[in-house]
Amino acid sequence: MKYIKNYIAGELQAPTLNQHIDNVDPSRGVVYSQIPDSSAEDVEKAVESAEKAFPGWSNTPKDERAAIMIKIADIIESRLKEFAEAESLDNGKPVSLASHVDIPRAVSNLKFFATAIQHFAAESHYMEGVGVNYTTRKPIGIVGCISPWNLPLYLFTWKIAPALAAGNCVIAKPSEITPMTAFMLSEVCAEAGLPAGVLNIIHGLGHKVGDAMTRHPKIKAISFTGGTNTGATIAKIAAPMFKKLSLELGGKNPNIIFADCDFDKALSTTVRSSFANQGQICLCGSRIFIERPIYEKFKEAFVAKVAKSKVSYPSDPEAKLGAVVSKPHMEKVLSYVDLAVEEGGTVLTGGTQVKLDGEYSEGFYIRPTIIEGLAYDCRTNQEEIFGPVVTITPFDTIDEVLMMANSTEYGLASTVWTENLNTAHSVADRIHAGIVWVNSWLVRDLRTPFGGVKNSGVGREGGFEALRFFTEPKNIFIKS
Ligand code: NDP
Repeated sequence: MKYIKNYIAGELQAPTLNQHIDNVDPSRGVVYSQIPDSSAEDVEKAVESAEKAFPGWSNTPKDERAAIMIKIADIIESRLKEFAEAESLDNGKPVSLASHVDIPRAVSNLKFFATAIQHFAAESHYMEGVGVNYTTRKPIGIVGCISPWNLPLYLFTWKIAPALAAGNCVIAKPSEITPMTAFMLSEVCAEAGLPAGVLNIIHGLGHKVGDAMTRHPKIKAISFTGGTNTGATIAKIAAPMFKKLSLELGGKNPNIIFADCDFDKALSTTVRSSFANQGQICLCGSRIFIERPIYEKFKEAFVAKVAKSKVSYPSDPEAKLGAVVSKPHMEKVLSYVDLAVEEGGTVLTGGTQVKLDGEYSEGFYIRPTIIEGLAYDCRTNQEEIFGPVVTITPFDTIDEVLMMANSTEYGLASTVWTENLNTAHSVADRIHAGIVWVNSWLVRDLRTPFGGVKNSGVGREGGFEALRFFTEPKNIFIKS
């Protein structure tokens, strides 16, 4: 049994109360490691070590901070296979996905922000005959980063990289369901020479560790990715302390397919945008709207392709879908299939658990599921399922599809398929979402603002937006 440890003051430490939580391999449904069930005492220790490290780290020249971050990235890259296998074991995702997406992106996050900070210029505003303003941007101090289980190291590094690059000291909590690669990162940080206390990784439960971080008066900002309800809880606690907050929350993304689209591209990308990572990506398009003239043709081709997608154990090179992250999550996703049927939907393919053979027989596998015949405003079409379940709905006009697409409380991402430039522009302009992909999905340029509107979040990550979040601007005016 492997014991994961906290990373505090540059050392791997057992939790103060010496209590642990089981960590389950979702592909087999068995406990394979133990993680610290940390408490407010561990958060306190981390804050003390971050406080000591801050003067040194914030005064370290940017290029020296960058060099350490690039070294961390290089070590992860040199151990890519090991990291990918660990991510897959912890999360249930196919090893091929972790090798091609999760771990390379974690490496890119570190390298991107290590270099972005060197191009992060201060603004200056000249007032003719009056004087000049210049704005400095200094690190905030100690910041908290809390991340979810769906893209574990990918989202963890997406937060800590800009925070560290900007000169902050970080207390970070990965999801307790997928802690392994964050633990491996702590070993790499020590090896790469990151000074003690600059990054502290505390493992444990959200309502204990996450809550203690949110309440701690010395943690001045919280960058959180996770569910909308958790985001609301954090906002309520943080607001009276006037903490800076970046909240990246849930989604119920529309995928709008017009009759004039490039059919084959729309079809193959829609299979991916629906079911990549078992549908557990906040950017997956879970409500698919298809213009009526191609509805039947698209439906038939989509169902045929998805029915052939192989659900298998993560190390199977042919697996298109692996296991979902946990038993409770599998049960939640399947309960939405039952709800959809109660609401009048028809399951066209999938809708059930998959039982694999042998050592994987207790794993948490779900067939990719397509449902039709639901009203746009029923619960299945309004609530986030966050699994391999999509609905398909025909539409006749742009106004109608925008009304349906914009009807949820969420507004994270959206996808539009059309060869007509005017249609693309018009829909992209009128859709309520922070991100619109036209004739594509999940094409990411790390410089672009990332985040959602409505209940999908507050603030933006990515590029200079993230560096602005993790710094405090000060305007200085000098009279001429
Ligand atoms: P949760 O909100 O349950 O958890 C996210 C993180 O917050 C975890 O580390 C969790 O710890 C922690 N947490 C839980 N309760 C608290 C609390 N009271 N105070 C502080 N921290 C807490 O989300 P999931 O992990 O289930 O992730 C899935 C959600 O994330 C989906 O809604 C998805 O849409 C969203 N998401 C959004 C993205 C975006 O960019 N907008 C990207 C990816 C996912 P623990 O694991 O111990 O509960």
